[in-house]
Amino acid sequence: MYVCKPTSSDPEEPFSVTRASANPKTRRFEDRLRQQQRHLESSLLTAVQQGRQTVADDTLDVADQAVLSYQKEMIFSQGTEGHSQLSLVRLALERLHEGTFGECLHCGRPIGDKRLEALPWTPYCIDCQEKVENGEIDDVVRAA
Ligand SMILES: [Zn+2]
Repeated sequence: MYVCKPTSSDPEEPFSVTRASANPKTRRFEDRLRQQQRHLESSLLTAVQQGRQTVADDTLDVADQAVLSYQKEMIFSQGTEGHSQLSLVRLALERLHEGTFGECLHCGRPIGDKRLEALPWTPYCIDCQEKVENGEIDDVVRAA
């Protein structure tokens, strides 16, 4: 009698078994973080170059200078924003190597996969992020 063997290729075979030391999820986050790091570094460089060009030009009337100083401010704030994100990315890469990636820096709870997918460099879980934004807890990253 011919019996079908449903167990031969069971689709519910557990795939969560750790096969190798390298965690594929960690690797994926590392790739994304490195990509973001390169992106931020190159856009910061551009901001600095633009800033230099703007500063170098001093043959303008008052109205132009007003526009320019506004632009300089914009470039500056873009630069600082890029800078703080870059340090977040670097810190996240450090945590990856230390094995603490994915844990909230404040409360130590898991940040959550969805949040990490969207913001792999985030140091806080959603609850603590809100508290940081409301000034209820100190931003350890910014304080560092
Ligand atoms: Zn937290």
